[in-house]
Amino acid sequence: MDKTQLLKQVEERCREADLPLKELATNLVFGKGNPEAEIIFVGEAAGRNEDEQGLPFVGVAGKNLDKLLAKVGLSLENVYITNILKYRPPENRAPSIEEIKAHTPWLIEQIKEIKPRVVCSLGNYATKFFLAGGNVDDMDKQLGITNVHGKVQAVEIDGLKIKLIPLFHPAAIIYNQRLLPLWEQDMGIVKGEIAQKQLVD
Ligand code: URA
Repeated sequence: MDKTQLLKQVEERCREADLPLKELATNLVFGKGNPEAEIIFVGEAAGRNEDEQGLPFVGVAGKNLDKLLAKVGLSLENVYITNILKYRPPENRAPSIEEIKAHTPWLIEQIKEIKPRVVCSLGNYATKFFLAGGNVDDMDKQLGITNVHGKVQAVEIDGLKIKLIPLFHPAAIIYNQRLLPLWEQDMGIVKGEIAQKQLVD
């Protein structure tokens, strides 16, 4: 079975699962892009547009992410995009500890099937989840994105070794254009990591 089929099976099991927020949401927002990708981007949670369409990053932040990816020569053909939460929190409120605990085992399953070379966390929630090694209760003890963006981190969650590169959230870049050169610089690091690994392979 190829990665697309394996991921589809995970998605169907996730759809059947009894997750918090499911009853309040319109659609499951599981992921989009190429399951064979070397890079996976992990955001926070769906907003209204994502909930309506059942796809991550299709609203304003998503349009900006598309633009940011295009600037560095990437598209949905070479990346996979998902969130830590698989359903939208009402009124886009911040995710609770219990919601993150319940939803992130699905994220870990996605990463286990895709086996990307690099995981890029977008913004504080996703970054702190990975930096805490998946221990959601420790998320608030982690450094924020301003301190860790662009720094390669080796993390291990549930026996899974992950090369993490935290990035600013595309929504933050809309409001603060001064983050744009930093994002481009950080994406240079992501691409460098991938090229380096290929030389070793
Ligand atoms: N912001 C996120 O973090 N994820 C989405 O899917 C959309 C906006």
